[in-house]
Amino acid sequence: MAYKIQIDKKSCQGHARCANRAADLFKLNADGYIASEGFEVPAGREMDALNGAVSCPERVITLIDEQGQPVKNRNVLQAALDAKKK
Ligand code: SF4
Repeated sequence: MAYKIQIDKKSCQGHARCANRAADLFKLNADGYIASEGFEVPAGREMDALNGAVSCPERVITLIDEQGQPVKNRNVLQAALDAKKK
């Protein structure tokens, strides 16, 4: 199972900080608002996804782990990713 990004699209205020972190993951529409309500995170891009999520000042982006739990901390994510490699 993959990590997922959930986006409360209607709460987006168009700051574009998410796209500044990872433009290919967090695509904006022509008005500068987030274009997606969520997506599966490509393998190997989990930290980019979290960096985009935590950069959003409106807190509308959430990274969800393989157990369906939100991940908000880089150290926690890195530990989980390291554990998967073993
Ligand atoms: S950083 Fe947050 S508010 Fe800004 S475009 Fe991205 S999702 Fe929207």
